Amino acid sequence: MDPPPLHVVFLPFMAQGHMIPITDMARLFARRGVKSTIITTPLNAPLFSGKIRRDAQLGLPIETHVIEFPCVEAGLPEGCENVSAIKSPDLLIPFFKAMAVFQRPVEDLLRNWRADCIVADVVFTWATETAGTLCIPRLFFNGTGSFVVSVLHALKVHETCNGLESDSEPFLVPGLPHEIRLIKTQLPPFVRGDQSDSGIRELREAMEESEVNCFGTVLNSFHELEPGYAEYYRKVMGRKAWLIGPLSLGNKDGTEEKAERGDVVTSIDERECLRWLDAREPNSVLYICFGSTSYISDSQPCEIAGALESFEELSFIWVVKKGESLPEGFEERTKGLVIRGWAPQVLILDHGAIGGFMTHCGWNSTLEAVAAGVPMVTWPLQAEQFLNEKLVTDVLKIGVGVGAQEWSRGERKIVVGREDIERAMTRVMVGEEAEELRGRTRKLQKMAVKANEEGGSSNSDLKSLLEELKSLKDKKL
Ligand code: UDP
Repeated sequence: MDPPPLHVVFLPFMAQGHMIPITDMARLFARRGVKSTIITTPLNAPLFSGKIRRDAQLGLPIETHVIEFPCVEAGLPEGCENVSAIKSPDLLIPFFKAMAVFQRPVEDLLRNWRADCIVADVVFTWATETAGTLCIPRLFFNGTGSFVVSVLHALKVHETCNGLESDSEPFLVPGLPHEIRLIKTQLPPFVRGDQSDSGIRELREAMEESEVNCFGTVLNSFHELEPGYAEYYRKVMGRKAWLIGPLSLGNKDGTEEKAERGDVVTSIDERECLRWLDAREPNSVLYICFGSTSYISDSQPCEIAGALESFEELSFIWVVKKGESLPEGFEERTKGLVIRGWAPQVLILDHGAIGGFMTHCGWNSTLEAVAAGVPMVTWPLQAEQFLNEKLVTDVLKIGVGVGAQEWSRGERKIVVGREDIERAMTRVMVGEEAEELRGRTRKLQKMAVKANEEGGSSNSDLKSLLEELKSLKDKKL
C-alpha cells in the first residue's frame, strides 16, 4: 500500500497581503500531490474558499478548515477578524497579540490530523514551539523577500540607528551587497529605536525567536530577483530558506482565478474592466493602488488628482478606498477609470495596456508588477514598504519614487506635492527613461516566468523542500 501523502497545514495571518500568497502556496503544494489544509476564521474563509473549492473539484487534495476567532474575548470589536476591519491603528498590536488564541485549537487539529508540517505566518510566534511539541517541522512565512530581512538584519547587527544624528540626512546601511541609503524617518519606529512602540518591539523579538528556531523559511520571491540577498539570508543570517515565488505565477491561473484574488467580489465586473483596457493603447495606462490596508493622508488624493489632470493625455485606473474622496468633477474631466473598493489587480497588471503602476510597495504588489513586466511609481507608506522601494528604485532600477519620506500608519505631516507626483509618473510612462525601465522590468518578468518552469530556480526549490519534508515523514514512519 502507498504511504499516505504529505499533509501540510497552512495558517495565514488574517490580512489580504498574507492570505493571498499563502493560498497560492497551498494550491501549489496541492498541485504537487501534497494534502493541503488552510486554517482560517469564518469571516476570512469566503475571501478565498471559492478558489479552493474549484481546485478540490478538479481533484486536488486541498481544503479550507474554519475555526472560531473569539475577537471580543481578545479585546477586539465584534467581527474584527481581518486587518482591513481594524478602524484605529491602536488596535493593531492587540490584533497581533490575539493570534495567541489559535495555539490550542491549532495544536489539537495538527495532532488529530497527524499533520506532517505547518506553514505558519510570522505573527504566530507560538507555532515553532507547537511544532516542536508535535515533532513536526514548522515553516516560517513572513510575506516579504530576502532584501527586506537582510536590510533589517544589517541595521540591527551594526546598530546603525543608534548613532544617527539627523532625521533627514540619508545614511548608508553597512554590510550589504549594494549601497543602500535610507533616511531615519522612512524606518518603522521599532527599527529607529522609538520607545513609544515597545509593543511592536516585543512582538518582533518573539517573531525573530520563532524564526531562528524553526525548520526553515519559505519566501515569496525568486533567486534571480535578489541573488545577493538570498545569499545574505542563507549565509550571513544562517537561515534555511526556499524561494518559491512569485506565488502569483505558480498556479498558472486564468482570468477567473486572477479576478478572484483576495475578495469575494471585486468592485468592478472583470469583463467591463478588460473591455475598458482593450480599448487603450499598449503601455498607455497608469494603474494606481495602495494595497489592502495602507492609508494615504487625507490631502493626498487631491494631489494625485491634480497630477493626473495636468498630465492630460494619461489614461489611468485608480483604486480608491472607501472613505477617500476625489475633487468635484474630477472623474468627468479626466480619461480614467475609478474603482471604488477592491480591484482585480493581477488581471489589470497583466493587461498589455498597463504601462506603469503607482504602488505603496507592498511586497505582493511589487512582485505582481515584476511578474507582469510593469515598471513602478513608488510611494511607500508604512510597514517594510520603504525598504521594498529601495530594491525597486536603487537595486533593480525598475521604478521611480515620488519622494515619500515619512513612515506612518496614520496621518502624515509631509504632503507629497502634485509636481513631484507628476514628475515621477512622467518618467515611468513616457520617453527614453520609461523605455529603459520597461526593458529592465520585462527582463525580470521573463526570469520570473522561467523560475516557475521545470528546472527553474523556484520550481527546484519547491521540489527540494517537498523532498526534504517527505524524507522527514519517512524517517518518522
Ligand atoms: N489587491 C487586490 N485588489 C485591490 C487591492 C489589493 O487584488 O484592490 C491585492 C494585491 O494584488 C496584492 C494584495 O492585495 O496581492 C496586497 O498585498 P501587498 O503586499 O501588495 O500590500 P498590503 O495590502 O499587504 O499592504
